[in-house]
Amino acid sequence: MTKIRPDTIAQLDQQVSECRRCPRLVAWREEVARTKRAAYANEEYWGRPVPGIGPADAALAIVGLAPAAHGGNRTGRMFTGDRSGDVLFQALYDVGLASQPTSVRRGDGLELYGTRITAPVHCAPPANKPTPAERDNCRPWLEHELDLLKPTLRAIVVLGAFGWQALLPVLAHGRPLPRPLPKFGHGVEVVIGDLRLLGCYHVSQQNTFTGRLTPAMLCDVLARAKDAAGLA
Ligand code: SF4
Repeated sequence: MTKIRPDTIAQLDQQVSECRRCPRLVAWREEVARTKRAAYANEEYWGRPVPGIGPADAALAIVGLAPAAHGGNRTGRMFTGDRSGDVLFQALYDVGLASQPTSVRRGDGLELYGTRITAPVHCAPPANKPTPAERDNCRPWLEHELDLLKPTLRAIVVLGAFGWQALLPVLAHGRPLPRPLPKFGHGVEVVIGDLRLLGCYHVSQQNTFTGRLTPAMLCDVLARAKDAAGLA
């Protein structure tokens, strides 16, 4: 098992990218990287755990679910190279949290302003569904990430109910959780210790193609989070 003792976000990212703790996810991410999607047949897939992106002194975190098989698992960067990311990065740019409205590949010049994007599961899961055991395996990475961000972190946007439920036990370390536990919902906002937590529907195509989550709804949550994080 990987020894988890990162002192910096850079160390954390390096250690995450080498993790092999979940046999099913290791097999899946590597198989997808071998077999590829026809449209990307000439590309070399990342095929490893995808670390978070964004500055080590972020005031705002965005917590999703897990990398997509042909998105983050291909490009090696969260939400990069898929339709979900197209929606998210356009909105981040629109509210002034990203330097450009697109995120195509590592090294494309994208910069996030005071914002770090991460996930409770760092490997692409089959059918976008990690098991509870895989979520629990990956939890220490998120715990360490939030510990390292603690001096500056003020707000977290959680994309979807999976991320919300995965995050609460992480936040419980050192912060009293409200009882009853706050439930996920789009636009829900709750204060937990030193953090303001905001719920937002996930930027999956299932939500954005059906209009359940519109660009305006996403921008509204991100703008509120930006303000809560003191980034306005
Ligand atoms: S999901 Fe997390 S714990 Fe499991 S192999 Fe990937 S990085 Fe490691």
